[in-house]
Amino acid sequence: MEIYRLPALSDNYIFLLFDAATQTAAVVDPAEPEPVLRQLQQLGATLTTIFNTHHHADHVGANRSLLQHFPNVMVYGSEVDRGRIPGQQVFLSENDRVAFAGREAHIYFLPGHTRAHIAYYFPPVMGDDWGELFCGDTLFAGGCGRLFEGTPQQMLTSLTKLRSLPDTTRIWCAHEYTLKNLEFAITVEGDNLALQERLRAVQAARQRDEATVPSTLGLEKQTNPFLRWDVAALQATANTTDPAQTFARIRGLKDQF
Ligand code: ZN
Ligand code: FE
Repeated sequence: MEIYRLPALSDNYIFLLFDAATQTAAVVDPAEPEPVLRQLQQLGATLTTIFNTHHHADHVGANRSLLQHFPNVMVYGSEVDRGRIPGQQVFLSENDRVAFAGREAHIYFLPGHTRAHIAYYFPPVMGDDWGELFCGDTLFAGGCGRLFEGTPQQMLTSLTKLRSLPDTTRIWCAHEYTLKNLEFAITVEGDNLALQERLRAVQAARQRDEATVPSTLGLEKQTNPFLRWDVAALQATANTTDPAQTFARIRGLKDQF
C-alpha cells in the first residue's frame, strides 16, 4: 500500500492509498475532487473506496463528485454519522475491520471533536515496521481537534486509545496545523527540550514550505500537550493533578490562543 499526501483547500490533507497490484485506490477524507482525480490519473488507478473520519465539509466535500466519476465507490464512515456523510454505505463502530490492499484497518471510535468521529488504523505488516493511523481531526501533529460535539472527558478517552498504539505509528492527520500547535505547546510546557527542538525543526520545515505530516506517535507522546495530561509540568500549568481537568484546562487555553 503506497500512501500519497494531497494538499487540499487551505490547510487540509487528503490521503490517497494506492494498491499497485490491482491499480485501485482509496481516499481518506476527500475535501475536494481535483487533487484526487489528478493523482488517480497519474497512477492510472480506479477509485474503489472513500474512508471518512467524520462529517465536516472539509472531510466529505468531494464524496458526491467522486461518486459521479466512480459510481461503484464504497463510502465508509461512522455508524453515528448516519445521515451526515454524503453517499455513505458502510456504517462502522469500534473494533470493526475494513480491508484495503490486502491489509486490514481497525476502527477506533473517537468522540470529542464530533460525537461520531472514527479513525482507521492499519497495523504493521511483515517487512514493514510502521503502522498507519488516519485520525482526521482527533489527533493532530502537536495538537488535537477542537471539541465541537464532545466533552473533554470523551476526548481524553479517545486520545488514550490512540496513545496506546505503538510509538512506530505514523500519524496521518487531516490538517497542516503543526506550527501553530507547537507555538501553543511551548507556552504550556516551555522546559520540554524535545518540544523546543521540534518547534525549531517545524519552523524550518514550514519556511521551506515542507509538509510536517505524517508525524509519529513516539514524537507526539514526547511533545504534544494533548497526550501529556499526566506529566507534572502540564499539571502545574493547569494547576491540578487530575488528568481530565488537566486536559480540559490545556484545551481551554488552546481555544483562546
Ligand atoms: Zn473537523
Ligand atoms: Fe477538518
